[in-house]
Amino acid sequence: MTHTHPTAASGPHALTVSGLVRTYGTGAGAVRALDGLHLDVPRGSFTAVMGPSGSGKSTFLSCAAGLDVPDEGRVILDGDDLTGWSEQRLAEFRREHVGFVFQSFHLLPYLSAEQNVALPLRLAGRRVDRTHVRDLLARVGLGERRDHLPTALSGGQEQRVAIARALVTRPAVVVADEPTGSLDTTTAHGVLELLRSCCDDLGQTVVMVTHDPVAASYADEVVFLVDGRVAGRMHSPTADAVAGQLAHLDDLVGVR
Ligand code: ADP
Repeated sequence: MTHTHPTAASGPHALTVSGLVRTYGTGAGAVRALDGLHLDVPRGSFTAVMGPSGSGKSTFLSCAAGLDVPDEGRVILDGDDLTGWSEQRLAEFRREHVGFVFQSFHLLPYLSAEQNVALPLRLAGRRVDRTHVRDLLARVGLGERRDHLPTALSGGQEQRVAIARALVTRPAVVVADEPTGSLDTTTAHGVLELLRSCCDDLGQTVVMVTHDPVAASYADEVVFLVDGRVAGRMHSPTADAVAGQLAHLDDLVGVR
């Protein structure tokens, strides 16, 4: 079979993980953070990952994004099977294929918004396309503030710079770990709309860990983790339905 389109060649899923096991520590104190986790994430979709504290959400995100290496199982990200890759190869792959958004924005304080957004290109030794960088800043609503230092921006604005930075390499997959965790409701709404538009307008795939049912309601699907496995999935989530399901999951964890 001949593929002419690179996206078609890499299949309908931006991310497939199968049989993921990740154990921390050894012996009696060992913790099985991921316990045979399977998940497919369709290209161009927005997936929220939820679950009780300690259920493996961050470990999953790290393994799925090639930041951490599972003890068992496979991660296929943007069409590539990451199994057995060296740290160097993983780092290069992440730089090209994955955008990262964290709860704390990790902007460099002595660089302007524009310089922060361009940083991943510079680190990768790539030419900085200033028009692209400025377009991204305009897209996140900060076209007028591109020369500002992070200290002159609000938390929501800093997170929007961080999102523009995550998008600058045009990654296929954007992973976000509690991206609205430190933002007020109104500001969080803007950031979630922006992540939504990454899927709807740019065809990117977003995987977001969150504790917040309202944040999760922006996603196409919510995946619930319990004890390092997928315990349930919910399509077209509403905040109320997610909150109800979470309460139920907590009950399940309580009786184990
Ligand atoms: P979540 O993001 O859902 O809170 P994590 O993936 O952070 O869950 O953690 C899953 C389990 O693995 C927890 O029991 C946690 O204590 C443990 N864990 C996570 N990271 C480490 C680590 N670096 N060393 C030891 N245990 C860890």
